[in-house]
Amino acid sequence: MPTLFEKIIAREIPADIVHEDDLCIAFRDIHPQAPVHVLLVPKKPIVNLYDASADDQSLLGHLLATAPRIAERLGLGDAFRLNINNGTGAGQTVFHLHLHILGGRPFAWPPG
Ligand code: AMP
Repeated sequence: MPTLFEKIIAREIPADIVHEDDLCIAFRDIHPQAPVHVLLVPKKPIVNLYDASADDQSLLGHLLATAPRIAERLGLGDAFRLNINNGTGAGQTVFHLHLHILGGRPFAWPPG
């Protein structure tokens, strides 16, 4: 059963795509929590970080290296927050690894 994000990658479900390369795709969150709220998703359907393996290290590094470039292109400069909800207890609702890239407003710490 393909994940929701696999369907977006396959263009079976529409999304506002802001970045795509061989390894990942980024699109705007349908329920944005900030003026800029983008989901950065590996094309490989890894469930979450807990489920990732040593083989995924370079892919995970690629995601972290790509996020700031997307943030910059969307006008956030160096001011953005990255968030990963890992597991149901931490708020994960789509079980295909994704980084939330958020920006365009102040953020509190600690997060809610
Ligand atoms: P999480 O709760 O961390 O698993 O994040 C899942 C995110 O996917 C939520 O922020 C949702 O708003 C977002 N989302 C769900 N469906 C879509 C969709 N069709 N297009 C874009 N974002 C979506």
